[in-house]
Amino acid sequence: MSDVLAIAEHRRGELRDVSLEMVTAGRDLADQTGGDLHLAVISGDVDDYATQVNREGVDAIHTVEYGEEFNHDVYTQAIEQLYADLDPQYLLAPNSVNGMDYAPAVAEGLSLPLVTDAVDLEEDGGLTVTREQYGGKVETTIDVEEDHAAVTIRPAEWAQAEGDGDADIEAFDADIDESEIQSTVTGFEEVAGGDVDISEADFLISIGRGIDEEENITLIEALVEATDATLSSSRPIVDNGWLPANRQVGQSGKVVTPDVYIAIGISGAVQHVAGMKGADTIVAINTDPNAPIWDLADYGIEDDLFEVVPALIEEFGGDVP
Ligand code: FAD
Repeated sequence: MSDVLAIAEHRRGELRDVSLEMVTAGRDLADQTGGDLHLAVISGDVDDYATQVNREGVDAIHTVEYGEEFNHDVYTQAIEQLYADLDPQYLLAPNSVNGMDYAPAVAEGLSLPLVTDAVDLEEDGGLTVTREQYGGKVETTIDVEEDHAAVTIRPAEWAQAEGDGDADIEAFDADIDESEIQSTVTGFEEVAGGDVDISEADFLISIGRGIDEEENITLIEALVEATDATLSSSRPIVDNGWLPANRQVGQSGKVVTPDVYIAIGISGAVQHVAGMKGADTIVAINTDPNAPIWDLADYGIEDDLFEVVPALIEEFGGDVP
């Protein structure tokens, strides 16, 4: 068969954006193989999630009602059984914390080759997967020799599918062996600032080493408040312990795709850019005319942030600390 099976993702009652990116990636690949696109929605409010992923291009959605949150053993069993039942050619999972948890186990269980963190997929009688290395400086293409494969796709590389679909939604009766379930989610505990998921934010104000001292974050927070934005940062800010790790944008942080990304005192190193190049509009505030961030910026102010930010706070009706 030349079908594609893609796995949707949710967390704490919310469908994650990557699920709609899976639809786009899956449809693209299924168009190349000439097959159908199947989506799997496992655990939680599957009917609600299935309705949300029912976008144009999806041929069938399979729901597995079992438990609430992601569970390695449930996902592994359900996907293996669904794959055996549908016999698709390719299996797609998000290259997320969850996807990277179950994809290797599923691939091993189904004896499929696994390629992780794909940024492009080409199928022309064989699958070629593109991956990025060294923060996007180097691209590697992998020709998969086997005719069936599992691939995890990098979040935010494919656009989110739009347009209502009319896929059939069918309950799949997975035979989950409870004795094989070795862990259960008993609750969630937030780390400080852990309530914020910058990868889902529409408007990010991001700070870098240019802010110079931790106490200057107060100034940026005033701008964040005045503009109703979300605060993120480059890695040195996190390394200094000035913001929690979940605020870091970049290769070793989060990939973000906001409508607007304001980079304040950030040079635009390749490892940072790897996380924010997908923003719709990029604004830079930087004193250095040669900073690499200008190569990406749609708008910018080449000036001292300590002059610019107070002026912006006032412009947006906020209080300058
Ligand atoms: P800098 O490069 O020091 O830039 C500071 C900028 O502020 C400069 O451009 C300067 O002109 C400007 N500036 C200074 N004062 C002012 C002022 N008063 N007003 C306006 N502008 C001012 N980095 C990440 O961000 N995310 C990652 O995920 C990441 N992962 C990495 C993984 C690896 C394996 C490695 C090796 C590195 C990684 N890095 C990452 C680090 C990365 O290489 C850079 O060191 C980092 O992004 C630089 O952060 P920055 O732009 O804040 O600081």
